[in-house]
Amino acid sequence: MFEKILIANRGEIALRIQRACREMGIKSVVVHSEVDADAKYVKLADESVCIGPASSLQSYLHIPAIISAAEVTDAQAIHPGYGFLSENADFAERVEKSGFVFIGPRPETIRLMGDKVSAKNAMKKAGIPCVPGVDGALPDNPAEITKIARNIGYPVIIKASGGGGGRGMRVVHTEAALLNAVTMTRNEAQTAFNNPVVYMEKFLQNPRHIEFQVLADSYGNAVYLGERDCSMQRRHQKILEEAPAPLLNTRFRNKIGERCVAACRKIGYRGAGTFEFLYENDEFFFIEMNTRVQVEHPVSEMITGIDIVQQQIRIAAGEKLSFKQSDITLKGHAIECRINAEHPYKFTPSAGRITTWHTPGGPGIRVDSHVYANYFVPPHYDSMIGKIIAYGDNRQQAIARMRTALSEMVVEGIETNIPLHQELMLDAAFIRGGTSIHHLEHKLAERIKVK
Ligand code: ADP
Repeated sequence: MFEKILIANRGEIALRIQRACREMGIKSVVVHSEVDADAKYVKLADESVCIGPASSLQSYLHIPAIISAAEVTDAQAIHPGYGFLSENADFAERVEKSGFVFIGPRPETIRLMGDKVSAKNAMKKAGIPCVPGVDGALPDNPAEITKIARNIGYPVIIKASGGGGGRGMRVVHTEAALLNAVTMTRNEAQTAFNNPVVYMEKFLQNPRHIEFQVLADSYGNAVYLGERDCSMQRRHQKILEEAPAPLLNTRFRNKIGERCVAACRKIGYRGAGTFEFLYENDEFFFIEMNTRVQVEHPVSEMITGIDIVQQQIRIAAGEKLSFKQSDITLKGHAIECRINAEHPYKFTPSAGRITTWHTPGGPGIRVDSHVYANYFVPPHYDSMIGKIIAYGDNRQQAIARMRTALSEMVVEGIETNIPLHQELMLDAAFIRGGTSIHHLEHKLAERIKVK
């Protein structure tokens, strides 16, 4: 096992990885930007290295600075967390070429899955059902584009092959709007992801977002840890997740889970990963694979009792998975609410000093956050400041515990989306379970109409 790991991330996930290291008796090095220097989790780490100014480009995305930090601290492995460099194949390659272990898949796997067009093709070949659409990148010829859209049938969605974080997507309902939408998405993709390649697929009208968590070691062993429902989204970004997915047939779940595991073996996948699907009319359609730990990993941990971050570390250290698929049982239900520093209904970011921070507790409540009273939320990064996870014997109990937890939580000095989560915990459709990816946007639109 490693003696020292460098954590190339910030915020709650840096603390989460640090906790996993400590439990395993591994020392941790946290790299940080100048504005994060005083954060408690930085002080809690065994060592910390300032790698640059607040701007991510000059710190958390600055590959040479991170590699140097690993060199000067004698770390053996680098955990990238999520976001930042976690799905950057060049980074993974540089880490390994510099003699460190990258805690994640092989660089070529990250490259294959990071490009959505190649990922979809690889998954199709591996027997995973995909959203109907073209197999490759869209051509330049307008007549051909129009023909492809007609064949798929409107509405269609134009997506950037290098896209991520819910950006680089455009829905097209009519032929009149098609070519302009393709050009605009292409331009955006070039600017945002430095890759103008776009592709087209059927826009599913009322799907749910259901994803499968997998773990695979370097010896061809792979398992899935059930699924998560992440349909509660705004602008294609998740705000609340749960496991298992409500009202999903067990046999059906197992069938898709087994296919994901088979695909992992086929592509020689290593580490933790997530197969994301849209689910509509009892059919699963693959949209993309995330080759890293996800924000919502705790809900799977709660229902399986498996620590996903520790497993990532064990796999990277060359250990074999110590359990088989038949050892994994899904027990109870877990819900996660992402707490964001933003206005609950206008969604404007709300950086600043937190004056009061009181977190909930009690049976089944887990709070993953790096924040505390007097912490200053810097305006430079993602607005998520923590996650509340509620576990119960069943979904009803998990919801009841989440309601209590949200009512106990006190945050002052900045605005948060806690009132929105409180409203969702009382929402009749959510309580029934199985709402589509459009539910939250529809609900927010209704709110505006009523006001
Ligand atoms: P990203 O990498 O930016 O997260 P994804 O491909 O995972 O992009 O898609 C994010 C979200 O966008 C999905 O959860 C879903 O809400 C929506 N979406 C993506 N593709 C489709 C589609 N073909 N039909 C309907 N909605 C889609």
